[in-house]
Amino acid sequence: MRSHLLNRTTAELYRRSVTEGVERVADQLATTTRPFTGITPDALAPAVDAVDLDRPLGDSAAALDELEEVYLRDAVHFHHPRYLAHLNCPVVIPAVLGEAVLSAVNSSLDTWDQSAGATLIERRLIDWTAQRIGLGPAADGVFTSGGSQSNLQALLLAREEAKHRGDLTELRVFASEAGHFSVRKSASLLGLPPDAVVAVPVDREKRLQTLALAAELERCHADGLVPMAVVATAGTTDFGSIDPLPEIAELCDRHGAWLHVDAAYGCGLLVSRKNRDRIDGIERADSVTVDYHKSFFQPVSSSAILVRDATTLRHATYHADYLNPRRTVAERVPNQVDKSLQTTRRFDALKLWLTLRVMGADGIGALFDEVCDLARQGWQLLAADPRFDVVVEPRLSTLVYRYIPATVRDPAEIDRANLYARKALFASGDAVVAGTKVGGRHYLKFTLLNPETTLTDLSAVLDLIAGHAEQYLGDTLDRAS
Ligand SMILES: *Cc1c(COP(=O)(O)O)cnc(C)c1O
Repeated sequence: MRSHLLNRTTAELYRRSVTEGVERVADQLATTTRPFTGITPDALAPAVDAVDLDRPLGDSAAALDELEEVYLRDAVHFHHPRYLAHLNCPVVIPAVLGEAVLSAVNSSLDTWDQSAGATLIERRLIDWTAQRIGLGPAADGVFTSGGSQSNLQALLLAREEAKHRGDLTELRVFASEAGHFSVRKSASLLGLPPDAVVAVPVDREKRLQTLALAAELERCHADGLVPMAVVATAGTTDFGSIDPLPEIAELCDRHGAWLHVDAAYGCGLLVSRKNRDRIDGIERADSVTVDYHKSFFQPVSSSAILVRDATTLRHATYHADYLNPRRTVAERVPNQVDKSLQTTRRFDALKLWLTLRVMGADGIGALFDEVCDLARQGWQLLAADPRFDVVVEPRLSTLVYRYIPATVRDPAEIDRANLYARKALFASGDAVVAGTKVGGRHYLKFTLLNPETTLTDLSAVLDLIAGHAEQYLGDTLDRAS
C-alpha cells in the first residue's frame, strides 16, 4: 500500500496517474456537445450505490473507468457555452495548474511551519486585492472557502466591534431585500435574534434604496437599538445590481455602522479596465467579500475577506500551545490561522497567483467585460422579443426574464409554464438555466460567465424555452377540452 503514497520513490506513478486523470477530462471536454446529459438522481443513484467501497479496484485506470459511469459522463459542464444557470464559471488553465500543484504539495495555510512561502504568496495576493479595492495602508484579510464564509467572518468582526454598544439582542444588520441569504444565515450563526437582519427595499434597478435605509437607521436609533452593520451588495446574485456604495458609506459614517460590501459576484470589476467605476465607493468599506471563484474564473474554492483595519482580525485570533502559541512581538511568525475561521486551510491563493503570473489581471478583467457586454446584448434581444418579459437592464452578467404567452393571462398558469420550461430544458440537457422569483412570480435566469457563449446561443436557448412553455400550455389546453 505504500506504493500509493506520494514521495520520492513514487514520482513516476504520480506523473502517470495524474496524467491519466487529465487525459480523461481532456477527452470529456473534447467530446461533450451538451452542458448536461439530463440524468435524474433516480437513474444515477443505483450506479453509485452499487460501488462496493470495501473492495478497492487497486488501479487508477479501473477506478477512472468506474468514475466515468458514476460521475464524469453525467457531470454538469460549466465550460459549455449553453450552461447559463448559476454563478459557476468556466475556469482558466493557469488556475487548474495551480490546483494540481497545491494539492500535491499540500501546504496548509494555518501556520508558517506548514506553509513557508505559501503564506507570503497569500499575503501578497491579499495586499494586491486590498490595493485594487483601495482599502488603504492598514488593510489586511485572508482567503476563505467562499463568499458565505467571508460574509460570516465580516459580520463576526462587525459584531465584536459593536459589542460595547449593546447586547446581542439589540444589534441590527441592514441589507437589501436582494442581498444574499448568507447574511441572514450568518446573523443566526452569530447568535443575533431572528429579526436582526432588516431587509431594505430596492428600487426598480434592484439597488438598495438609500432613503429607505436612512429611515431604517433612524428608526433603529429611535428604538434604542444598535446599527451593527450595513451589508451593501456589489452584484446581487439574481440581478447583478450594485447598491449605491458612496451614499451607503455616508449613512454608515453618520450612524457608526460597519460597512460590509458583498462583492462576491461583482469583484471581477476590480480588474476591469472598462467598468471598474461601477463599484466606485467600495474603497470606503470596512470589509469586503470577493469570490475569485465567480468572476475571476477560478476553480472552487477561492474567496477572500478583506478588511480596512488589520487589527479587527484579532477577533478571529485564538491561541493553542500545539499550533500558534502566544509570542512576543519580536519572535512573532506569520501564522495565517490567527486571521481565519478555519484551521487547516487550502492554498487556494496559488491558483490566483499563477493566473496573474500567466495571464495578468487585465486578461481576467477582459473576460469579465466580455460576459457583461453579452448580457447587455442579451437584454436588447429579450426586450425586443414579445414572448418574454425581462426584469432589469443588467449591470453585470445576469438576465432575469419570463416567458409570456400571447393568449394566457393567468399569472399562476404562466408560472407553471416557466417552471415546466426550465425543467424540460434541464432534462433535455440542451442548456441549463436558473430560476428565481420576482414579486412572488416564477422567473428564469441566465447567469453569463462564459465568454464563449454567443448571442446566437442565447437566442437559441430562448427559442427552446418558448417551445417547452408552449408545449406545456398546449397540453394543458388539451386536457381542459
Ligand atoms: C455567491 C454569493 C455569495 C456566496 O458565496 P459562496 O462562494 O457561494 O459561498 C455571497 N454573496 C453573493 C452576492 C453571492 O452572489
